Amino acid sequence: MTHIYDIVIIGGGVAGFTAGLYAARDRCRALLLERFAAGGQVLNCEHIENYPGFPDGIAGYTLGPLLQQHATKLGLAVQLAEVQALHLEETVKVLQTDSGEVRTKALIVASGSRFATLGIPGEEEFLGKGVSHCAACDGAFFSDHPVAVIGGGDAALDEALLLTRYASHVTVIHRRDTLRACQLLQERARATQKLTFRWNTVVRAIEGNERVQRILLEDVKTGQQTSMNVAAVFIYIGLKPNTEFLRHLVPLNERGQIVTDLWMRTAIPGILAAGDVRHESARQLITAAGDGATAALAAIRYLRTGEWHAGNDYVFSRCQ
Ligand SMILES: Cc1cc2nc3c(=O)[nH]c(=O)nc-3n(C[C@H](O)[C@H](O)[C@H](O)COP(=O)(O)OP(=O)(O)OC[C@H]3O[C@@H](n4cnc5c(N)ncnc54)[C@H](O)[C@@H]3O)c2cc1C
Repeated sequence: MTHIYDIVIIGGGVAGFTAGLYAARDRCRALLLERFAAGGQVLNCEHIENYPGFPDGIAGYTLGPLLQQHATKLGLAVQLAEVQALHLEETVKVLQTDSGEVRTKALIVASGSRFATLGIPGEEEFLGKGVSHCAACDGAFFSDHPVAVIGGGDAALDEALLLTRYASHVTVIHRRDTLRACQLLQERARATQKLTFRWNTVVRAIEGNERVQRILLEDVKTGQQTSMNVAAVFIYIGLKPNTEFLRHLVPLNERGQIVTDLWMRTAIPGILAAGDVRHESARQLITAAGDGATAALAAIRYLRTGEWHAGNDYVFSRCQ
């Protein structure tokens, strides 16, 4: 007989492992599928200082494996596999992965997001040769060289501050004249001598020979074009949800994010979403964890009662 899980979770980030922890703790037959490594975007966070319970902060590369350790200790099964497609066989959700088929009664999609790209000449060509989305991974390669960071949010300033440890100078290039980043990061950035801002400016091209050598900039107010010599460009201009495998089955908003109610339920009975991948997500570690817990509790309730309607009438229930 084909094995059918109670709950399958797609994605091994904070949202996915929290959901897995709750599901396993409730003795559900639960499996988490991750295509790369435990932690997801956590692995891009050099030093996390806003996750409660860690007054001295915690490194992302430490938290990532701990998430997996915690959930597997409670009984969560984890498989390294990429989900490529989803279809429904009545109430059973059938996942096509690069390691075979997986069937489940309830599905929690916690597949997060990936970095948005600029779509300019040179960006793809120089990826890994000076174009990067990870200061912690690549910053040291550019010691004593000037680098540019593109973006104006938390991730951009966080990464720019980290890069000041290595680079001779860091220029943050932002298309507006105000930042979205939190005040603490703005204060730190403004107090850092090695870091300066280039306001109202967009990058039109990334150029070089074997590796990045310069970027072409345009002032959005005057249209004036200039060039800046840099050894690397770190791009943080937003995120794109990893939802391609759900298309035409689960309702998405115009940005491709999964639409859910407050219990993380989609319009399809038994399919839930948690973390950065869902609409209205605050895109923080703690909110991703909260989503994961909520989604697991709602999935458990669905398994127990078969009910699928929005509301706040949660009643505690178990898988077995
Ligand atoms: C540079 C940077 C710094 C940040 N710093 C902070 C910070 O200091 N504090 C904070 O609170 N937040 C921070 N954030 C935000 C935080 O990292 C995210 O909000 C959070 O990690 C999202 O977790 P998630 O579980 O929803 O998704 P993710 O962490 O993105 O996890 C999704 C997982 O799903 C996997 N996946 C995707 N598609 C598939 C598929 N088809 N099959 C199988 N697996 C799949 C991915 O490989 C990934 O591991 C930062 C983000 C960045 C980029």
